[in-house]
Amino acid sequence: MAQIRFNALQTALQRDTIKVEETGRRSELFAKHVFNDSAMRQYLTSDAYQTILAAIEKGDKIDRQTAGHIAAGMKEWAISKGATHYTHWFQPLTGSTAEKHDAFFETQADGSVIEKLGASQLVQQEPDASSFPHGGIRNTFEARGYTAWDPTSPAFVYGTTLCVPTVFVSYTGEALDYKTPLLRALQAVDAAATSVARYFDKNVSKVNATLGWEQEYFLIDAALAASRPDIMLAGRTLLGHASAKGQQLDDHYFGSIPSRALNFMRDLERECMLLGVPVKTRHNEVAPNQFELAPIFEEANLAVDHNSLLMDVMDKVAKRHHFKVLFHEKPFAGINGSGKHNNWSLQTNTGVNLLSPGSTPMKNLQFLTFFINTIKAVNTHEALLRASIASAGNDHRLGANEAPPAIISVFIGSQLTAVLDELEKVTSGKLSPQEKTELKLNVVGKIPEILLDNTDRNRTSPFAFTGNKFEFRAVGSSANCANSMTVLNAIVAKQLQDFKLEVDALIDQKGMKKDDAIFNVLREYIKDAKRIRFEGDGYGEAWEKEAKKRKLSNAKNTPEALKAKISASSVALFESLGILSKTEVEARYEIEMEEYALRIQIEARVLGDIARNHVVPTAIRYQNVLLENISGLKAVYGKTTNEYTEEPLRLLEQISGYIREINQGVAAMIEARKQANVLSASERAMAYCETVLPHIQSVRKNCDKLELLVDDQLWPLTKYRELLFTN
Ligand code: ADP
Ligand code: MG
Repeated sequence: MAQIRFNALQTALQRDTIKVEETGRRSELFAKHVFNDSAMRQYLTSDAYQTILAAIEKGDKIDRQTAGHIAAGMKEWAISKGATHYTHWFQPLTGSTAEKHDAFFETQADGSVIEKLGASQLVQQEPDASSFPHGGIRNTFEARGYTAWDPTSPAFVYGTTLCVPTVFVSYTGEALDYKTPLLRALQAVDAAATSVARYFDKNVSKVNATLGWEQEYFLIDAALAASRPDIMLAGRTLLGHASAKGQQLDDHYFGSIPSRALNFMRDLERECMLLGVPVKTRHNEVAPNQFELAPIFEEANLAVDHNSLLMDVMDKVAKRHHFKVLFHEKPFAGINGSGKHNNWSLQTNTGVNLLSPGSTPMKNLQFLTFFINTIKAVNTHEALLRASIASAGNDHRLGANEAPPAIISVFIGSQLTAVLDELEKVTSGKLSPQEKTELKLNVVGKIPEILLDNTDRNRTSPFAFTGNKFEFRAVGSSANCANSMTVLNAIVAKQLQDFKLEVDALIDQKGMKKDDAIFNVLREYIKDAKRIRFEGDGYGEAWEKEAKKRKLSNAKNTPEALKAKISASSVALFESLGILSKTEVEARYEIEMEEYALRIQIEARVLGDIARNHVVPTAIRYQNVLLENISGLKAVYGKTTNEYTEEPLRLLEQISGYIREINQGVAAMIEARKQANVLSASERAMAYCETVLPHIQSVRKNCDKLELLVDDQLWPLTKYRELLFTN
């Protein structure tokens, strides 16, 4: 048994690094495999090019004939890049990407063959979709959905396949993927932010949400990973005693990147360059074998696609380098988990970052408007925002003193706190000329243009302002960013709509000047949203108590957190913005609850197997070694027990005790599962959380105790020190 472990170790230790030569400049590689503006200019007729441009920029429709021209051009371009197949590329609610490849190859009536991509194949396809999660939306008789082209995210060639980004919807029009509601939320925030931005600049006609994600991950040697059924099946270790050396020395963070990992990264970055994913930063993270990769930010829809694509590409490139990438939020107990910070802002078509303080009081009033509205939005919908990042994996991070807590709060730093405190004192109604001058010169006018270096970085905050953007830090590393981005953009859109109505009412009905009206509304918002602002230590117990007083939600697990998704206020929000209907919201809730239960179910099954088939038999073998040892000692020293048998007897007793506990624990875990399985989806998720999960924890604890007692030569599972320190 232990042979598997030793073979894996030997393989891992003997690995050669796979060198990757860097030839040419990265800027020359960039987006070579993307059907971007320059490729479109080259391969499309000018009419087709203008049509697709209008579709991207203004959401205009593309007629069938033009779609045919675009498809033909796209196909020619793809073939020039070596593509033989095409696929509609989409993001179903399974959490990964889906594709079904078809060859360009087609036979003609006269028997000749050609390469073809027609309008209908570009625009719409029907994947056999009945096995994607749909949360009861589709009955079996209409168990079909279709994918529809999203021209705002450019097609790309990966390997020998032309990938066309698409949305995935049911025949009755309900969204079955992550992208559809995201696109709707982005439209909503565009419309709302544009109308508010026009208070300050009439030239603004479009506002894009921007997203820059930071992806954390672990790299484990493929042989070592394969020797662990838990890593292979559940994506994380379900047992394993802490290594004597973990991350306590902090010697991995920003340390030099091990050469095998570096070569993997080079290879990955090269692929990313070709695919137009603008990766820029790479470094070691806190935990051993943990790394981070971040791109330059992009328009949010594209950034979400790029993150999904990246996770796919990482898997594939890792295989070439004999690594397994772990995206799980908590692959190792006692070692830092992984997150995916979502840096978010709003940018106008005139090139202005609306969350960046400017050089004049007017620009700063614009900044404060968007800044305060975002804080107010988070305050109103904190529970929904928490729900947007809920998953079985992320439950291990949130509130576990290493990642942001499960309580949503906003950190803005001392300088901006001072500014908001001043603004709160603005008198009600029309402002006197003195007050205006004072505000403009000494409050709004004093916000330094470059706050970036001044924002003290509070790493314990889940939602922090970092100089010219908000950073949503509680997102899980395995998540599709679309979930959190849909909610964030939706709540900000709604908030900006309300703001516009209130300001306009003061102008129209109370005859206030625009500035006065804005100051008045913002002052009230600052007061209303005070409870969400927190500058202290988010990990402390004191904050939990304080948050409770402030009536902030503190959902400790996914089933509890997800309830906020179907609350009356959340449904009203999604419906009023046309992002999701009540049916769609409820379907998503059901899918996520089901997914949660399934994840815990898999973990319970895998752990049960490992405990019974690997751990207990190994412990019994060692028990027998001890028994033999004890009888030998008795034979030599001629007594039933003697001073030499004391230790092995005590060890025997400990081991026997743990074996018993494990066997009982596994039996109880199976029973708890049986009882949970007959419940409805949402009750089942709750039951898995409350009755199955505790058994997983206790079985693990007892297995880990045995790992410390049993002869290392017999232990079948690759140990933490081997998984974390072999590279
Ligand atoms: P860290 O959080 O690791 O200290 P930074 O704060 O420098 O790193 O975050 C960098 C991330 O923020 C990058 O992914 C970058 O693309 C993103 N970012 C920078 N400006 C914006 C913006 N205006 N909108 C969205 N993301 C942004
Ligand atoms: Mg960050």
